Parts: sequence; structure tokens; C-alpha cells
Amino acid sequence: MIAATDPREALHRHFGFDDFRPGQAAAVGAALDGRDALVVMPTGAGKSLCYQLPALVRDDLTLVVSPLVSLMQDQVESLARIAPGSVALLNSQQSAAENRVALARAVSGDLRLLYVAPERFASPGFVAQIERARIGLFVVDEAHCVSQWGHDFRPDYFRLADAARYLRARAIMALTATATPRVADDIAARLGLAEPVRVTTGFDRPNLSFAVVPCRSKQDKHRRIAAVLHDLESRPAIVYAGTRNGCEELARSLGRTLELDVAVYHAGLPRDRRAAVQRAFMAGDTPIVVATNAFGMGVDKADVRTVCHETVPQSVEAYYQEAGRAGRDGRPARCLLFSESRDKGLHVFFIERTQVEDAAFGAVARRIHRQAGDNGRYELDLGVLADVAGCDRDQARAIVGHLARAGLVQPAPSPPDRTIGRLVGSWDR
Ligand code: ADP
Ligand code: MG
Repeated sequence: MIAATDPREALHRHFGFDDFRPGQAAAVGAALDGRDALVVMPTGAGKSLCYQLPALVRDDLTLVVSPLVSLMQDQVESLARIAPGSVALLNSQQSAAENRVALARAVSGDLRLLYVAPERFASPGFVAQIERARIGLFVVDEAHCVSQWGHDFRPDYFRLADAARYLRARAIMALTATATPRVADDIAARLGLAEPVRVTTGFDRPNLSFAVVPCRSKQDKHRRIAAVLHDLESRPAIVYAGTRNGCEELARSLGRTLELDVAVYHAGLPRDRRAAVQRAFMAGDTPIVVATNAFGMGVDKADVRTVCHETVPQSVEAYYQEAGRAGRDGRPARCLLFSESRDKGLHVFFIERTQVEDAAFGAVARRIHRQAGDNGRYELDLGVLADVAGCDRDQARAIVGHLARAGLVQPAPSPPDRTIGRLVGSWDR
């Protein structure tokens, strides 16, 4: 049973906020009524509260599935301040003993919320235990991960619909910031939502200003980005670069110009290094992070004043997500896209690349990279390229063609069975 509650009173009591933000009251209402809900709100709009508030009011257990350990940890820490003893998490980064205690407390009815990673549901031991808990809400945060149309598909999300049904959860709430109707419909279908209450709020972010800054060259971009970030008011800042090498290079250049330690974040760095960079940025110790799109979901820092893009992102949706990390506190913030005309080539490159076998592509690219000397010159037999790539000569030639169209290599006229040219860019991504 759920005690009759005035949601606004509960909002005030638990969170100290005066009013719901748009969409929150409808989502909270659905959860208190035990109805399925699909909540689509932009990043920073306040999705977490849509399930946290009902979870604290309800007298059963709310299971929250969240894809990132760092996201979970942040949420659990801030909730533990609001409602001590009501929330815990299960993940592979805490000890087996800690996980056992958390699970036991969830089963005994001690907890209001338990955060779990999606891969937990693959463990029969976990399912057998948690089955004994009285589960009210089954929350799927970052629910676009369930959809192949989303930009972050996770196979582990596939199991969740079955899990929610098996555990006899009263209601499922799915939340995402991904606004396309195709993804929303896919989420509803894959999670088997039953006549869900659909809550969608505007994607306008009036405090963000957007601008495209045309640049002549990479050096010109670096200069202009440095000029923007020189201004203290434009920090903290995230600078997205298209490639790992691009990040390293830009961070060095900004560090020199601004005489600062500029941090780098990309998937090529060890996990603990990445975690340290993220922590330092969140804590305000690192004013500027240069990152690939790997710096993503877990970044929930309210006071980011500028998000720069050194290259054009893969899709408008990706741009919205990344730029949307600016100004989550509602204060003015800027989103700047630095673009030069050859950026389009890079896109053509990545689109075409998906049409060529990835492994073959990588092998050719690496071989050229290895051959290119200090001046970037390479000269390779097409047969050799075809061998390392496991393809035929024509395909090897086509792959070099893609690299050329992307402006990454400049082939010279060459005899039919050789490829000669200069390496001018990097494709490490
Ligand atoms: P999302 O998951 O949609 O990206 P979060 O749930 O992380 O957003 O919330 C973003 C910020 O908004 C948090 O700092 C949260 O405390 C704040 N917030 C949420 N709801 C309200 C509200 N009704 N009034 C004031 N601040 C709120
Ligand atoms: Mg969120």
C-alpha cells in the first residue's frame, strides 16, 4: 500500500524544491498510480526525480537499472544524503560482501531504492535473490540503450523486459533524453510497456547559445578554441575532438597556449586514468577536458559553461547530447562548433567506412601508418596491403581511396600495383 501523499509536499520534504519542473508531476503521478511510463526529457531536465520521489514515497522496492557505474555512484551518494539508509547499489566495483549486504537489505524491505547494472540480470543468483523482494517500480534509466536505433545500444538491455515481468514489478518506468519517435516507440516495444503514460517535454534549452565558427585549418581551430577558453568565464569547458590523436594534440596545444594542465579523456586511456580525469573535472579541479565522445553519459556537471566541438559530430542527435552538457544549472552557456571545409570529408570517410569491412580497413590504415616516415611518405605494394587486410587488390585500392577522400592521405600518381603518397591525417578513433 502507498500512503496517500501530496506529491508536492513530498517534493518539498525530501528534496527541498518548491516546484516540479515540466513533466515531473505527470511522471511521478504515473509511478504512484502503478502505471508504466515513458519519460523523454532533455539532459539536465530532472529525470531522476521522476522515479526517486515515488520510490521514497512508496513502501516497496524500486529497482533502478543504470548503465554506468559512475552514474549510479553519483546518484546513490546524493540520495543517501536526502534519505539516509534507503538506497544502495550493486556493482562489480564494490566487494562481494558489500553486494551481499545491499542485496539482503533490498530483500528484507529495508531499502527504498536499489541501483543495479543491466548485466546483473544475467546472473541467476541475483535473480533468485531479488525475486524475494517486493518490487514496485522497475526503472530503466538511459532507456535508449535498449534500442538499436539509439546511439548507445547495449545488448544487456534486451533482457530487462523479461526480468521486470519475471519479478512481477508493479510498473516499469523508462527514461531517456533521446527524442526521436523511432527510438521512443522501440523502447516501448522492447520493454513491453503496457499503455504507458508518455511524458515528453520541450527540447529547447533557452540558456544555451549556439554558434558555428568557420576555421581555415586545424591550427586555426586550435588558436580559436584557445582564445575562447582563455576567458575564465568560459570555464569549466568540455572540448570534443573527433579522434584520440586529435584529443592529445589539441590538449597539448591548449595547454601550451593557456599555460594550464588540460586533461584528456578517450577510450584509449586506462580505466583508472579516465575515472581520475572525470573525478577531477566533476570536482572542479580540472577546468578543461579535451575528449572524444567516450566522455559521455556519466558527465553530470551542472556548471559547464562551454562545450566546444573541434570536429563535426556524427549526427545531429549526438551533437545535441554532447552540446547539451553545457549549462545544466540553467545559467547562460555556449556551444561552439569549430568547422573547416574538409570536416565534411571526415564524415564521408566514416560513413563509407561502415560499408567496408572494418577489419580490412583498420589493417590497411595501420600498415600505411607504419610505413609513413617522418615526412609522412609511404610507398606500398597493393598486394602487401591486400594481404594484411585479407582482401583483394581492388578492395585495398578502394580503401586507400576512402582515406584520400577523407583528406587523411594524399596519394601520388602511382603505377597500377603500388600505392604512393603522403600521410596527412589520423584516423584513430
Ligand atoms: P537528467 O537525468 O534529466 O539529465 P537529473 O535528474 O540529473 O537530470 O537532474 C538535473 C539537476 O536538476 C539535478 O541537479 C537535480 O537536483 C535538479 N532538479 C531536478 N528536479 C528539480 C526541481 N523540481 N527543482 C529544482 N531542481 C531540480
Ligand atoms: Mg539522468
